[in-house]
Amino acid sequence: MPQKPLVTDAPIPGPGAPTAEALQAEILERLIYSVGKDPVVARPHDWLEATILAVRDRVMDRWMESSRETWRTSKKRVYYLSLEFLIGRLMRDAISNIGLMEPVRQALKNLKVDLGDLINLEPDAALGNGGLGRLAACFLESMSTLKIPAYGYGIRYVHGLFRQEMSEGWQVELPEDWLAHGNPWEFERRESAYEIGFGGHVEPVTDPDGTVRQEWRPNDHLLAVAYDTPIVGWRGARVNTLRLWSAQPIDPILLDKFNSGDHIGALEESARAGAITRVLYPADSTAAGQELRLRQEFFFSSASLQDIVRRHLQHYGDLGSLPDKVAIQLNDTHPAISIAEMMRILVDLNGLKWAEAWRLTRGTFGYTNHTLLPEALESWPVSLMERLLPRHMQIIYQINADVLAEARQRARFSDAQIASVSLIDEHGGRRVRMGQLAFVGSHSINGVSALHTELMKQTVFADLHKLYPERINNKTNGITPRRWLMQCNPELTRLIGDRIGPGFLDDINLLKGLDAHADDPTFQDQFAAVKFANKERLARLIKTRLNVTVSPDALFDVQIKRIHEYKRQLLNIIQAVAMYDEIRAHPERDFVPRVKVFAGKAAPGYWNAKLIIKLINDVAKVINNDPAVRGLLKVVFLPNYNVSLAEMIVPAADLSEQISTAGMEASGTGNMKFMANGAVTIGTMDGANVEMHKEVGADNIVIFGMSAEEVNEKRARGEVPRTAIDKSPRLKEALESVASGVFSPDDPNRYRDLIGGLYDHDWFMVARDFDAYEAAQERVNELWLDRKRWYGMAVRNTARVGFFSSDRTISQYAAEIWGVGEQQAS
Ligand SMILES: *Cc1c(COP(=O)(O)O)cnc(C)c1O
Repeated sequence: MPQKPLVTDAPIPGPGAPTAEALQAEILERLIYSVGKDPVVARPHDWLEATILAVRDRVMDRWMESSRETWRTSKKRVYYLSLEFLIGRLMRDAISNIGLMEPVRQALKNLKVDLGDLINLEPDAALGNGGLGRLAACFLESMSTLKIPAYGYGIRYVHGLFRQEMSEGWQVELPEDWLAHGNPWEFERRESAYEIGFGGHVEPVTDPDGTVRQEWRPNDHLLAVAYDTPIVGWRGARVNTLRLWSAQPIDPILLDKFNSGDHIGALEESARAGAITRVLYPADSTAAGQELRLRQEFFFSSASLQDIVRRHLQHYGDLGSLPDKVAIQLNDTHPAISIAEMMRILVDLNGLKWAEAWRLTRGTFGYTNHTLLPEALESWPVSLMERLLPRHMQIIYQINADVLAEARQRARFSDAQIASVSLIDEHGGRRVRMGQLAFVGSHSINGVSALHTELMKQTVFADLHKLYPERINNKTNGITPRRWLMQCNPELTRLIGDRIGPGFLDDINLLKGLDAHADDPTFQDQFAAVKFANKERLARLIKTRLNVTVSPDALFDVQIKRIHEYKRQLLNIIQAVAMYDEIRAHPERDFVPRVKVFAGKAAPGYWNAKLIIKLINDVAKVINNDPAVRGLLKVVFLPNYNVSLAEMIVPAADLSEQISTAGMEASGTGNMKFMANGAVTIGTMDGANVEMHKEVGADNIVIFGMSAEEVNEKRARGEVPRTAIDKSPRLKEALESVASGVFSPDDPNRYRDLIGGLYDHDWFMVARDFDAYEAAQERVNELWLDRKRWYGMAVRNTARVGFFSSDRTISQYAAEIWGVGEQQAS
């Protein structure tokens, strides 16, 4: 049966919307003249490249017009600096955003090629670890959608986040190779190359007019070369640029060395330069702490600032207007060295007075904090900074002297407070604190959810907040509804459009109109049918990838995210063990059949996270193969979690697990993706779950567990978890079975220490939240069995997701931090 076109396929109004026939000719032309292949022998990758090139052509006019318009109108530009962009695939996003889904599908069909196959062939651009990088990608799309003149700046890693495979249940990391077939999206801009220095020394130079300047003479140089990718907004509203830097040697080969017979040495410089942008550091929420990482941070900061200042001077001719025409947002502290680099550019290279340069710098920068975890707060040894960036170290000392003088004189700070706001940490080896540097150099410091922003004020930045009380503000994260609803769940999008009309595609808040239909039995049936079809699709994937059979009739209970102790996958899998014990103990009883789906990568050096993956796989093996379970419980771990896998799993979820230890998840964005797709959340009062609870209403979310405050108190009191375990026989039984090797007969001691930690300190409150979690899961079962109640909740989750659109987030950044555009925050 031919399907009627999706509501998202409405072509962009106005003339020039191409027909399938025209697109077919364009794709063929690209195949022959750009890819250089005869259609008769073209392989799938050739068709993919030809299609991307044809789509890219369709975007070029808007791209050029977008930048021409910014020049013409002298609008303020936003620069989003991020060491990570977790983009995923681009082709479907671009085709959908310019409204060409159906004509491209038809054009390819005429050429005997399936668009769906090509979409799945495109590699994920995985230039990020998790939430922080994905946020940057959602922001890029929203900035284009909201017509904000913006640039993303980052690093063109040759190898993105590692590919995860399983070997006997253990995570194995393999190099990721997204550029293996080339990257048809990008344009190399050899003319936009900047010299980046490292090391050397600083020399005072006296200018003819008698002023003394500091001049940095690096002894190590390389080039940053730009690669540009177009980022298309919804309905092609605007096309912005993602500019990624690649490191290249200044001399590709040292000929004198080569000629004297040293063939390896001749290439040494080239190899050293290339190393800087070779791989993404794979640790999430942990500071990498290595010299190469600092080199990456300075490399991309310096290249980006040189580019920004060059463009500004070209347009405006002077630097005094910098804060009026430029907003630079630092995505976490990774680009924080930019504060010192901007000062160097203004003072040393452009002769501005220190105080004026500082005013301009602060007026230009904003800083987003993403975590309060102590292990994630970046700091660099002073000795390393002095060796690698001697002039920046001087500048940091000068900034620090100014800040500390102000703290003493204006704010009458005590010695303890001075130590806490200082840019230099004096505890055990002097280190530069990048959070403090980013804070003092910015006019705005934002957290990513209400709770996280409050905790920022109470913890890491308590004293800086006293010194500069007007700077901290909140911008709750969001996700782009294009990728995370319309593109990943076209059937639900179609259903919504049929019910409330297509207006929500352009104003996501109109989804609220679904509220009126949440209890309509017909609509509930249709909503459930879409969910069921998505679950069937996921069940097929699980069968193919893991050879495990799951029933789409079961409740799909999903936890997909980086593996981290604070995210508490351990709590979830221990609950699975308790359920397993319960099912076997009560063969007479009815249970709600569940499929527990896990996915996520562990940082390669994070032992406990890797052990938790192994535990999930060990438990899965036992439960999935025990006939006494009667198919009532299945546990699956899908390897290699990435954006594309998330797009497959999220639409199929009934239950979204957002169960971090309260106070530890800054925001979460996975929670929002599930909400959009009509999953019910089981979660703690943490991160943006707090806002979700408010938006969706207490009746439509299942909240459990300690509050951030209670967690804090228990930790401060050093309370022993053993009491909680003794009081909970089900928890005790589950813990003992894991610890004694029931799931690891080949190595009975494998989980002894992991479980021992729960008895000993239980830092993440797994044991002490267990009973509350089980009770919440019991509540989920009750709700699930009341089908009308469940789908009422599911529909209301989708209906009320509008607040979590990154369009709302970006509107708030635009109005309250950047001072651009007329977008209204809703
Ligand atoms: C959304 C997303 C994340 C962030 O998920 P959280 O649940 O917020 O931690 C991480 N990785 C990928 C691939 C994502 O799409």
